[in-house]
Amino acid sequence: MVNDNGGAAVGRRERHVDVLVVGAGPAGLTVAEHLAAADCGTVEVLDREPHAGGVPRHCLHGGFGTPWTSGPRYAARRLRAATDAGAVVRTSVTVTGLPAPRTADVTGPDGLERITARALVLATGARERSRAARLVPGTRPAGIYTTGELQQAVHRFGQYIGRRAVVVGAEPVAYAALDTLRRAGVAVVAQLTDFDRPQVPPLRAADARLRHAVPLLTRTTATEVLGRGRVTGARIRHADGRTARLPCDTLVFTGDFIPEAELAREAGIRLDRATRGPLVDTDFGTDVPGVFAVGNVLHAVEPAVAVAAEGGAAAAAVRRFLGHEEVQLGVGGPELVAEPPARWITPGRLPREPRSADGVRRFSVRLAGPLPGGGGAFLTVTQDGRILHRERLRGSARTGNSLDLDGYWVRNVDPGGGAVRVAIVRP
Ligand SMILES: Cc1cc2nc3c(=O)[nH]c(=O)nc-3n(C[C@H](O)[C@H](O)[C@H](O)COP(=O)(O)OP(=O)(O)OC[C@H]3O[C@@H](n4cnc5c(N)ncnc54)[C@H](O)[C@@H]3O)c2cc1C
Repeated sequence: MVNDNGGAAVGRRERHVDVLVVGAGPAGLTVAEHLAAADCGTVEVLDREPHAGGVPRHCLHGGFGTPWTSGPRYAARRLRAATDAGAVVRTSVTVTGLPAPRTADVTGPDGLERITARALVLATGARERSRAARLVPGTRPAGIYTTGELQQAVHRFGQYIGRRAVVVGAEPVAYAALDTLRRAGVAVVAQLTDFDRPQVPPLRAADARLRHAVPLLTRTTATEVLGRGRVTGARIRHADGRTARLPCDTLVFTGDFIPEAELAREAGIRLDRATRGPLVDTDFGTDVPGVFAVGNVLHAVEPAVAVAAEGGAAAAAVRRFLGHEEVQLGVGGPELVAEPPARWITPGRLPREPRSADGVRRFSVRLAGPLPGGGGAFLTVTQDGRILHRERLRGSARTGNSLDLDGYWVRNVDPGGGAVRVAIVRP
């Protein structure tokens, strides 16, 4: 029924709003809250789930801003703040495509709609890659979960999970999976990671290993899933080539997230090759004027509080755009390139003209692979061989985690120069 040429289709309502936000997770709700509070006209948030709040709704553990704030409580707080400010939040409404700049095709309980906005914000979050996508061979028996599937099965549907689990991953989300398995009464036989240490603070790792007796096998990969109707085990390989079989009836693959960027990709919005989310500048603008992106659709995955802070910054840029103030829109400025063992940096592009506000920008740099020089390595920012910034890596820098990088050096970038490179180097 939807006309691909962008014309009117039978039975489809055409509507206009000032700001349309796709995704009612922490990022989208925070953008909406700030824009509605600033009287930016009609601010509408759409989410395909029956309830707003995004991923935190399924995370019963604490750690959302404070150690004792659970995901559902945090999600409810963000939703209330957005609606109290005057944003309209609609659920069970899926955006199926972006047929034109700042225009969304939508399907929901009220049927089909085409909504055109003065500014559109993509806040569609991230999704976990399945085992198939991670190329772990073997059979496809029951008992295999991603963290999201596990949390929904336990917290939402109260399903029986199993008795003995192996968890593949040792990043923060893997530790959330351990908590969920414990709540569901499942013993964890082992936790595996390809890396030489877990990607969480030592206390968190020690708590799982010592208090809850979960053995952590580092530099170990799951190479095969065993079992026919139901998982019976996992074959694993250590870095030195030794292999073993771990008997279990449940396998949880954690932490392998990719941005939920299909809408952006299909609409021809330029993607960042490193993060695989939309390429945005420091105003969260994509290369399509008036289309912004924020939250985990840019970088899979960062904590909810960091994502909400981005939402506040993105809202300020959207306001400037609506007020016709100049906002750089992902055109012209130098790109940022992360060199191994850094995997990506986001935002991935600088504005064409540096502005005073750029000094307070923050960037996230994801570390992947072993860090050179142990704890003594430096992070450098260079352009065309010129050093713009150099800092010693903090002791908390860990493979698989992100570093916050202050952007005071942005004002020293040559807007007409080459790419700005971020590297981790030996002292
Ligand atoms: C297992 C797990 C544990 C975590 N634990 C913590 C923690 O302890 N502390 C912490 O701070 N953070 C934690 N996080 C991270 C936190 O959940 C994220 O930072 C946060 O959810 C990101 O918010 P977001 O708005 O970018 O995306 P999301 O929360 O993913 O929200 C995106 C929303 O977009 C909607 N959407 C997507 N596509 C469409 C479409 N086409 N049409 C309509 N709607 C769409 C989705 O339904 C979803 O509701 C955890 C994450 C996971 C997975």
